[in-house]
Amino acid sequence: MSKQKTVTAPKRSLTIVHLYPKEMNIYGDNGNVLAFKKRAAWRGVDVQVYLVGVGDPLPGDTDVIIGGGGQDAGQGLIQADLQTKATQLKTMVADGVVMLMICGMYQLFGRSFTTIGGEVIQGIGVLPLETVGGDTRMIGNTVYDTPYGEIVGYENHSGITTLDDPSLAFGTVTQGDGNNGQDGTEGCRVGNVFGTYSHGPVLVKNPQFTDELLRLAL
Ligand code: GLN
Repeated sequence: MSKQKTVTAPKRSLTIVHLYPKEMNIYGDNGNVLAFKKRAAWRGVDVQVYLVGVGDPLPGDTDVIIGGGGQDAGQGLIQADLQTKATQLKTMVADGVVMLMICGMYQLFGRSFTTIGGEVIQGIGVLPLETVGGDTRMIGNTVYDTPYGEIVGYENHSGITTLDDPSLAFGTVTQGDGNNGQDGTEGCRVGNVFGTYSHGPVLVKNPQFTDELLRLAL
């Protein structure tokens, strides 16, 4: 009798965390969770979504974390709680959990965001960048060129973000301002952690990127 090879079946269920859905969720960012869930379901992947707010624990079996944008005030409201979750989030980053952070949460996955009023909101330093509030809002429809194709979206931020290493950018700006309106960089990617200024919601407007995140998560 020939020996049978054991083949591990690919994972067919995913646990998604929507981080701070109350405070950090503007310009339809919630749609990112819906788009991810729908495209996964079309492929027979069952998705469990957990809404994790201030004071809520992060599920230990998390596969994907999605966070949205928010006002400076919203960032202020979640900053202390984010620090309590920092160690666990960093462990998840090291384990390859897929994370997508938009605008305000993107800024707080960097080291810090200093508001125009001078308040320093601490980030968790998962992405090597810093953000400082400027006196001009960067607003409008955007087009970014990325390894995942052309990403279209919408940005609205006063924060000016500088990457330690511009080669870690998520993409380059074709239309809009991206990280700072100066150096042509947009967003940041380190491992499976993606940060971008693109609202849209980005996963609704750019299905090819949604599928790439799904592929990474599986
Ligand atoms: N408050 C931040 C800024 O204006 C983030 C804005 C946002 O998330 N859209 O830079």
